[in-house]
Amino acid sequence: MRLLIGSSRESFIRQIKTFLLDGVDSIESFMLNRDYIDSVYKINPDIMFIDATLDKKTEVWKILNTIARAPSTREIPVIIFLEKKTAFAMKKICELEIFDYIVEPFLKCEVLIKVNKAKQIIELKKEFSKFLTRDPLTGAYNRAFLFERLNEELNWCSLYKEPLTVAMFDIDFFKKINDTYGHLTGDKILIELVHKAISFLPDRVLVGRYGGEEFCILMPSTNEEEAKEILEGFRKSIENSEFLTFKGDSLKLTISIGFTTFYGENHILPYEIIQKADIALYRAKQEGRNRVIFEPFIVE
Ligand code: GH3
Ligand code: MG
Ligand code: MG
Repeated sequence: MRLLIGSSRESFIRQIKTFLLDGVDSIESFMLNRDYIDSVYKINPDIMFIDATLDKKTEVWKILNTIARAPSTREIPVIIFLEKKTAFAMKKICELEIFDYIVEPFLKCEVLIKVNKAKQIIELKKEFSKFLTRDPLTGAYNRAFLFERLNEELNWCSLYKEPLTVAMFDIDFFKKINDTYGHLTGDKILIELVHKAISFLPDRVLVGRYGGEEFCILMPSTNEEEAKEILEGFRKSIENSEFLTFKGDSLKLTISIGFTTFYGENHILPYEIIQKADIALYRAKQEGRNRVIFEPFIVE
């Protein structure tokens, strides 16, 4: 389990670290400013602790407002540490649907009980949401979930002017693989490809099955340059991978990737950005396959 602490007090961080030595794989801490929000995207923690004891009713709640509402971070449980229970804090906790809070003095047993409760809820949510949101063959997100999330990410992006990259990728000459090795091998390759994509790409990124052997990658808070580097790395990693046929023979394949980046200039619909990424993918195929092509998103 990864824990991310947001606090400006060394003593608080030290105290929490002594409480949680068992069952926590990593604990990182950041000051409660813009760095904290960036670190949430980077680390993708399982749980967050926010130290609001020095709160002057400003910065902490602004940060919480972002984390608790952003589509890619709002499911992460947050426990807030308060100096005392105030009407203001309680109102905010309810409004933002914060997972839980702890009031001073901070006791080890209370912290551990609340962390365990968070862990159980995370597991239950994961199990339940798998049925509703995943493609049963590959485990990638399904199309319905992909569009729902894309719509939310676009709204977020327009509101906060954060870049959003959308990429589409498609296996090169996949028909030939099906024709040569059979559909069972084809299915197995789709499963392996999604596993490789999920393990290669950063945690904040979401991989969805758009249809057949065409997949979509949503990359929140990722600009054109960052996306290009990540996607180029992904393309290469697939080119250098070995896939196995149903009989266990080794097989090589490549993918073509098209992407576009939206900077929140105005309000657009999911299909508009998908269409642009699809044009880029089409160009990648036209220009010889096994490449990454960018198509700018120009707002009319
Ligand atoms: P290109 O490089 O132009 O993409 O060539 P391609 O042969 O990959 O062409 P295309 O992308 O049109 O191929 C789609 C093929 O993917 C056709 C279909 O048989 C296969 N396919 C789609 N969904 C599945 C699936 O769930 N399992 C298997 N085994 N094959 C699938
Ligand atoms: Mg293909
Ligand atoms: Mg295709």
